[in-house]
This record gives sequence, structure tokens and C-alpha cells, in this order.
Amino acid sequence: MRKSRETVNMSESEQYSRNTLMDFIDYRPLDIEICDVTLRDGEQTPGVVFSKEQKLAVASELDSMGIEVIEAGFPVVSADEKEIVKEIANQGFNSRICCLSRAVKGDVDAALECDVDIVSIFIAMSDMHLKYKYHRSLEDMLGCAKEAIEYATDHGLKVRFAAEDASRTPIDRLKKAFKEVETEYKVQYVSLADTVGILNPTTTHYLVSEIFKSVNTSICIHCHDDLGMATANTLAAAEAGAKQLHTTVNAIGERAGNASLEEVLVALRVQYGIERYDTTRLNALSRMVSEYSGITPSVNKAVVGQNAFTHESGIHVAAILEEPRTYELFLPEMVGGKRNLVVGKHTGKKALKGIINSIGFCLERDELCALIEKVKVCTEEKHKSISRDQLEKLITQVRQEKKASGSEKEKFSI
Ligand code: MN
Repeated sequence: MRKSRETVNMSESEQYSRNTLMDFIDYRPLDIEICDVTLRDGEQTPGVVFSKEQKLAVASELDSMGIEVIEAGFPVVSADEKEIVKEIANQGFNSRICCLSRAVKGDVDAALECDVDIVSIFIAMSDMHLKYKYHRSLEDMLGCAKEAIEYATDHGLKVRFAAEDASRTPIDRLKKAFKEVETEYKVQYVSLADTVGILNPTTTHYLVSEIFKSVNTSICIHCHDDLGMATANTLAAAEAGAKQLHTTVNAIGERAGNASLEEVLVALRVQYGIERYDTTRLNALSRMVSEYSGITPSVNKAVVGQNAFTHESGIHVAAILEEPRTYELFLPEMVGGKRNLVVGKHTGKKALKGIINSIGFCLERDELCALIEKVKVCTEEKHKSISRDQLEKLITQVRQEKKASGSEKEKFSI
């Protein structure tokens, strides 16, 4: 089925190539919001602890980007954590603030003291977790969850009922439990967590579609990246009707991490034309979280990796200088990044000319020929690309050598 995309703002869409194949795919129009869990699941990354100031800074950026929900922490963990969540909740952000709670009254009390908008009350209902983690029956656990949910709603909190390990829980069990809490307590969300990252896009779509058919409550999807599919699964869930998509900045989180905020936001543009988030802040936010967490994204990480807009091949660079979208899906400006044209052994004359022009130099033809020879020798000796500083030094050398043989030059330029 073809779909019109009249709502796409053309000036913005010129910053990226839209996936026009989506016009041939039959999917339900997306009705989504983002819940970023960097400050909760992200902080569960081994070795990561954010300070209050750091959490406030990240929350403020997320709010400025237009992220609808921020999961700020797990208040019952410590007095400090509770204080931070409370402070975030009282910043007056547009983002709604959510926190985590086990299915116990004390956790809900802690959430209440923090003034959060939403409390995420979670239990696992998979046989694996019931048998080896809780050592309790499903009925017991569900009973605890219902008591906690009732207590939270009675005290005016909006509730997300989250099924941990949902991807390894029988679907009928999930449907029944979700239907019950929806009917009895009017929870605002039910949440599916792919706790061990077992899902793929097809099974995610199936799982969410089945739940979507059986409940009226908004569905959340929380994906982990153990098989490198967290972003793809999150989008598959959105296509199947999931409302709230969980992400973390730089995909940090337990083990292999979560669905990446930067990937999900850019994919929402490229695939579905959703442009309401301020993606120009993504690279600065990524650097901020990288500094605070001590975890630097890999150089080839999508959107925020050091190589995301780095080009060396002569053919690519020459084309990019004419039209960046030849080899860039989206422009660096769209995500607050910078293009980096690297000079190396694969750099051709046309590309080199473009690169030196782009950094403010203008060389004559003979100078350019001399420069390209120097670049080749230099990169082959060092077995790596040359930096901008090195390039500027080589340009100076070329000019000095030309000056030194002034009379020679006269003959050439005739
Ligand atoms: Mn998680």
C-alpha cells in the first residue's frame, strides 16, 4: 500500500535520504513516544555511576531534545538515588519523569516521595525467573504486583506494569496478566522487556501485535542488544503498535546495552518521517554520556562514532564534495556531528583539491601534483592517514620548495 508523506518537511528531509521503499510496505502509522532509560538502565552498566549533576545535565538535554519520558532511576536503591530522582522530577521539564519499583509497597513509597509522574512496577513472569530468581509461583508474584499497582494508583501515580523477561514468557500468560491489570487498575502502560535480547524483528512484531490485539493500554518495548538487534527490534515493535520506545544514549546498559537513542531517533526520520526530535543535539549528548560513563562508543558506531562522517576513499570524497548525500545517509549537521575528509593513500587529485579548498587553501596545478606525491610517500611510510596539521605542513613545504626554485617555476607557468 502506498502512503503519502506530505507531512515531511522538505527542508529538513533534504538533510537525509528517506527510505522510499517504505512506501511499498504495509504498516500501521507510528504513534510513538520515547522513554529514555540512560539514567536507570544505562547506569546499570558495570562500573557506571552518575553524579547528581551529571544526571541533571543528561536529563536536561533529553528534555531539550523533546524526549517525552525520562526514566530517572530506581529510588529505593539509595538515599542519594532517591534525592536525585526527586530533583529531576522537580525541574519543571516538559518530559514526564518515571522511576523503577519492584512490586513491593516500600518501593512505591520511595517513588511517591520523589514526585515522579510514572512508576514502573515490574515483575518477571517467565518460568525461568519464577523458578530461579523469585522461587515463587506466578500467582504469588502477580498478587504482589497487583497490590503494588493498587497502592500506587490509589496514591495518584500513573503506573507502567512491566513484564521483565517478557520475550521468554508464554504470550497467553502475558495477555491474561495485562488484561487483568488493565481492567482492575487502569494502568497507563504495559511493558514488554526483552531482558536477555533474544528477540529478532519478526518475533518482536509478532509479540507486540498479539499484545496489541488483546489490550487497550499503551504498550512499551524495552530491548537489549545481545544479538545486535535492539534498534531493529524497537522499530519492529513500533510498527506493530508499541507506543513507548525505550532507549539509552550510546546504547549503554547491562551487558551489550539497550537500543540506542541516537539510532532510534535518526531511524524514525529516515524510515518513518518523524522529525519532531531535536537530533542536532545527539553528538553533544553522546560525548556528555561518554565522558560521564567512561565508555566511548566504537569508532564505527552509527550516528555518533568517530568514523560516522569520515571519508578517505578518493571516489567517495570527490562525490561528497559535489553532493554529500552520495555517500552519507544523513548530513552531520542533522545530528550535530562534523564531516571529516581524510587524506590518505586512496585520495585522488580531485578529492585532494576539494579537501584543501575546504580548509581554506588554494593551490596551483603544479603545487597540487607535488602535494599529492608527498601525501602518498608520507602515508605509505607511516601506514596511516595524515592529519590536518600534517597536511598543512606538507602544503607549506610544497610552497617553500616552489619558492626556492622560483626560476624553474617561471618556465613551467609559461
Ligand atoms: Mn533493561
